[in-house]
Amino acid sequence: KKINLAICGLGIYANIVAESMQGSEYCHLAGIVTGTPSKAVKWKDRYNIPEKNIYNYENFDEIINNKDIDMVYVILPNSLHKEFVIRSAKAGKHVITEKPMAINVKECEEMIKACNDNKVQLAIGYRLHYEPTHLEIKRLGQEKVFGQVRYIESSLGYKTYDTIAKTPVDINSPANWRLNKKLSGGGPLMDLGIYCIQASRYILGEEPISVTAQFGTINDKNRFSETEESISWQMKFPSGAMANGNTSCGYNIDRTYASADYGSFELSPGLSYGPYEGKTSKGPLKFPPIKQQQKQLDEISKLLLENKQLPNHITGEEGLKDIKIINAIYKAAETGKKVSLS
Ligand code: NAD
Repeated sequence: KKINLAICGLGIYANIVAESMQGSEYCHLAGIVTGTPSKAVKWKDRYNIPEKNIYNYENFDEIINNKDIDMVYVILPNSLHKEFVIRSAKAGKHVITEKPMAINVKECEEMIKACNDNKVQLAIGYRLHYEPTHLEIKRLGQEKVFGQVRYIESSLGYKTYDTIAKTPVDINSPANWRLNKKLSGGGPLMDLGIYCIQASRYILGEEPISVTAQFGTINDKNRFSETEESISWQMKFPSGAMANGNTSCGYNIDRTYASADYGSFELSPGLSYGPYEGKTSKGPLKFPPIKQQQKQLDEISKLLLENKQLPNHITGEEGLKDIKIINAIYKAAETGKKVSLS
């Protein structure tokens, strides 16, 4: 038996998930939810999806009557995660939502409550929690293989536009939802910086107690009129460890470095889709690439089939922790003051 999954929102990442999960042992792509009829036709043919398992955003709630769908994967713009997680929960379906979980703490709490009330499980699409290189840096840090980690640097950024050409963009276009604060909740911190926050947290196995932060330069004021172009932040942890984070839509960067009492380890690249390059102070750190989304869905589905609880590090509570930290980082950058997280 497999968990039958419906993907909600058929954009770029949904395509990556659907391709990756082909050949999955425990999860089957059984349904879709889309507002675009032409995509419904394409996906129906490509993945052999029965007509009765195709929904749009209006008739989606009818999924409650569809016993052939066990779980919904919400891969919509960030501000739509809440609505579709809650509608899935009310329809009695387990649900995975993409990161960031939602655009504020209140939304996360409502999502967790809806899933608890309806006795369904909620997971966040933290694909790197299943990736061997990341499981290894988590082990190196948390098992103190090189002693206590004292300092982490983690950055992820992509140059998303040409600074010279300054291609005009319509920030109200659905294609540019990431630049529209109502839809995205924020800029690269929500989209990419969340991976740096995650890496720092799972290398240390600790939660930050305070943050400071600074917005970077806005080179394209038209494009970044609502969301930040770049932001840097510093997190202090109970052990005394410090983590510097950095994210941008204006330049390319992808590296994570941890310095511990008796050595160090690092990945570059390490937060994109892979393959990853890494090393420790003792030698190379490299694992064969895996199908990340397939592994993620297989592990989640296997636990659901066994009627087991999903592990804490991928649940809604985990997603909420990241949103609280992101909130604190924005507050620190806006006020120029240290923000406490305790
Ligand atoms: P995308 O723009 O490619 O896809 C968004 C989809 O939502 C499109 O199919 C669009 O038609 C649909 N949509 C429905 N209502 C919309 C509206 N009001 N405005 C705009 N689009 C609307 O985006 P994406 O890159 O696939 O990102 C979707 C989600 O997946 C985001 O939450 C993002 O953070 C997450 N994501 C995760 C990863 C990962 O590695 N885990 C990678 C990329 C994206």
